[in-house]
Amino acid sequence: MGNFSLTVPALADKFVDYRQQIIGNSYTWSWVRPLAQVRYLVIHHSAGPDTQTPDDIARYHVQNRGWGGVGYHFIITKDGTTYYVGDLTTARAHVYNYNHSALGVCLVGKFMNGKQPSNAQIHSAHELASQLFFRTPALTNCDGWEDLKGHSDFSATACPGDSWPSYKPKIIADVNPPTTYQKRRQAISELYQVVLGREPDQAGLDYHVKSDRSIDQIRQLMTESSEHRQLINRAYSFKKAQELANQGRALSAKGYWQIKNLNLPATDPGLNNVAGAYWRLREITELE
Ligand SMILES: [Zn+2]
Repeated sequence: MGNFSLTVPALADKFVDYRQQIIGNSYTWSWVRPLAQVRYLVIHHSAGPDTQTPDDIARYHVQNRGWGGVGYHFIITKDGTTYYVGDLTTARAHVYNYNHSALGVCLVGKFMNGKQPSNAQIHSAHELASQLFFRTPALTNCDGWEDLKGHSDFSATACPGDSWPSYKPKIIADVNPPTTYQKRRQAISELYQVVLGREPDQAGLDYHVKSDRSIDQIRQLMTESSEHRQLINRAYSFKKAQELANQGRALSAKGYWQIKNLNLPATDPGLNNVAGAYWRLREITELE
């Protein structure tokens, strides 16, 4: 029996392991294959109403078509909820002649005549694909965006809709991520500014955004980092060396805001002033 447990931390509770609940056999049908055989992540549309549920789709496959289980591995509904419905190790039934080497992702809806998946679906497809390509080592041969395909790349079919060429790049680039995601990204970018005193680097920002840590936990981690300690140490030595020629001058509003957000330990009241001095130095340096 295939039983490959999978999580997508970036999707948090929008990723649902639904293999037990869905109608039909999720674990052995049609057959179990080595994961190294998988080469493609194939996108489909359900070609039905926007309200279709994973159970509606599975019922159609099992009861009307007489299959052993649902044809896909994943189903993404309009609100971006991503259901894991067929074990990764099983070959299912979604792309004729390529089922042995493919994973099937069905986006609920019919993407014809200019209609496209919702932003939430695009975002979830992006995160699911990223997890499978880049953070699932067992998928040795399905490991990059060149492996993202549409059903029509393999067969003469309208699936996944004639809008596929215009929404495929959106899945790759993850355009218009939902507000909660943008807010999280923004909050973490600000932590970089106030705790580490710099712009975020792309790899670090992505790492934190996709982790399942809360903003407070990330702030705590950054505050404990050697980078943060170095910043504070630099501020201390600056204060010692200079005794602040401009001591007493009011800090800029930006400086106050940055210090306020530093969340330094309350047990060391001197730290806020030292950090403030450092920020002031930075501002002067940047101006000159
Ligand atoms: Zn299809």
